[in-house]
Amino acid sequence: MDFLQTAPQLVHPYRNDRTLLALLDRVLPTERRAALDTDLDALGDYARFAWERARRSTPRTPQLTRWDAWGGRADRIELTEAWREGAELTTRHAILAAGHEPHVHARLEQFVRVYLYHLASEFYTCPLAMTDGAIAALKASGNQALIDRALPHFLSRDPASFWLSGQWMTETAGGSDVGRTGTVARQDEDGQWRLYGRKWFSSAVVGEVALALARPEDAVEGTAALALFYVETMEGAARKPGLVIDRLKDKLGTRELPTAEIHLDGLRAWPLGELAHGVRQVAPMLNVTRTWNAVCAVASMARALALACDYAARREAFGRPLVEQPLHAQTLADMRAEFEGAFALAFEVVQLLGRVEQGQAAPHDAALLRLLTPLAKLWTGKLAVALCSEALECFGGAGYIEDTGLPQLLRDAQVYAIWEGTTNVLALDSLRALGEGIEALGTAIGGWVDGSHEPEAVAPIQATFDAAVRQVQALGAQRTELEASARGLAITLARCAAAALLARHSTFARERGDMRPGAALRRFVAHGLDRCITPDTADTQLLLW
Ligand SMILES: Cc1cc2nc3c(=O)[nH]c(=O)nc-3n(C[C@H](O)[C@H](O)[C@H](O)COP(=O)(O)OP(=O)(O)OC[C@H]3O[C@@H](n4cnc5c(N)ncnc54)[C@H](O)[C@@H]3O)c2cc1C
Repeated sequence: MDFLQTAPQLVHPYRNDRTLLALLDRVLPTERRAALDTDLDALGDYARFAWERARRSTPRTPQLTRWDAWGGRADRIELTEAWREGAELTTRHAILAAGHEPHVHARLEQFVRVYLYHLASEFYTCPLAMTDGAIAALKASGNQALIDRALPHFLSRDPASFWLSGQWMTETAGGSDVGRTGTVARQDEDGQWRLYGRKWFSSAVVGEVALALARPEDAVEGTAALALFYVETMEGAARKPGLVIDRLKDKLGTRELPTAEIHLDGLRAWPLGELAHGVRQVAPMLNVTRTWNAVCAVASMARALALACDYAARREAFGRPLVEQPLHAQTLADMRAEFEGAFALAFEVVQLLGRVEQGQAAPHDAALLRLLTPLAKLWTGKLAVALCSEALECFGGAGYIEDTGLPQLLRDAQVYAIWEGTTNVLALDSLRALGEGIEALGTAIGGWVDGSHEPEAVAPIQATFDAAVRQVQALGAQRTELEASARGLAITLARCAAAALLARHSTFARERGDMRPGAALRRFVAHGLDRCITPDTADTQLLLW
């Protein structure tokens, strides 16, 4: 018999995640921990079960049946097993409800559940994120009738009454530039608003609700004239005739997630608020979904790293396990340092969101949240792709073979940088947040590194941050140059923030005898923080073609 390599095993994603456990030890009061531990343990069990189940079964994708046997419109979507379990898992573990409990740790307790559930859910977390975003948008709208109607379903702890919400923004003409929205809202003779148009990406097409951007009939062109509408999609068990599913998209990744192209043909709709400035009304929703994106990106990194580390102990080359090969060990440690930085930043955003929502924000927290949300989303999205790619290489040829389950990690990770705003769109958004945000970030970084035992690692953080601030000041009103430098600037600020958060955590850990976070800090800083570029628009033009 030829040599047979043992497959990588997924260690328990909760009990063995020292980064997650250390965060909870540092932040959560012990009295909140006991109940949460039971829940997280169960979600970790489910994650392992789902990983093993997927290894035993043939990959499946959702199937759309458009017509029934008699020529009637069916628009029925058959879902994968994990998706069919989604409502039950979500409500049992209060994955949405936990985030809206009235205490300052609500968001943290929610997002650690999200972190553990995400990959096992097969991106059921995508519509969950949009539902959570819809809750934020509805609350901000103050539309009491819609709040009373929808929130009890969104926050339900009973699968029978649980509803999902989609967000219908992207059209063929624009996802980033939604000002080009062509969907029209018209009032019928009874004064009921109805939507007509085509939405190009609908990831929660199986949901019961959606928030949709549309242009009220007779409104002027442009973004400001768009309004945000609430729609319901189901009539009992059947989809409403005003919603037609044209097809499911054939995607690079997130294949279990049914992303549809749809037509709206008179679907009844209710405005959330005023009949304009819909994009402004979407903003509270995007802040929430972008936080989900960052946490889910970090969850993908954690999975890739856990599998790569496990394999490194099982696979031998040149007479010893990979983990004992100095360069392979170095590769894994480099990945770990980057992951820990990303984890620290994503969960800082989570905690800031919690404090701001619960009215317990420190003076600079709101401005800091406004800036760190796009930074965390864009940087973790890009890093997830790089880290998952590196992890695949850690398996050699096996990392390229579909039924190991590894290629899916990379294919899925690519989406984090695209939906909820691409990297460039988020970088430009972060420029808008610099006004108050840069001062807030400077103050926060000062506080996070205060008392650090790692002066050599901490010095570059302050120096890089100061240089980035000088670049913003130097570019000032030069709009073209400022925009051209936005991505480098955003990643630099994100890395400075992450490094400072690692410094804070390493101080805490060191006092408890744990030297590993200090090592992560030193390694992360050694990878460099500065990603700023000096824009040269003339060279850019020369290099375009
Ligand atoms: C799997 C999946 C599921 C999705 N689900 C949904 C959903 O449920 N609901 C929904 O509404 N949408 C959904 N989307 C759509 C997604 O949000 C959009 O694809 C995304 O926002 C980008 O929009 P676009 O595709 O129109 O690209 P474009 O806006 O055409 O962007 C193309 C490129 O141009 C760049 N760009 C655009 N403007 C600028 C600028 N000013 N400066 C610099 N660069 C710029 C972008 O960064 C990008 O690289 C989904 C997408 C995917 C892949």
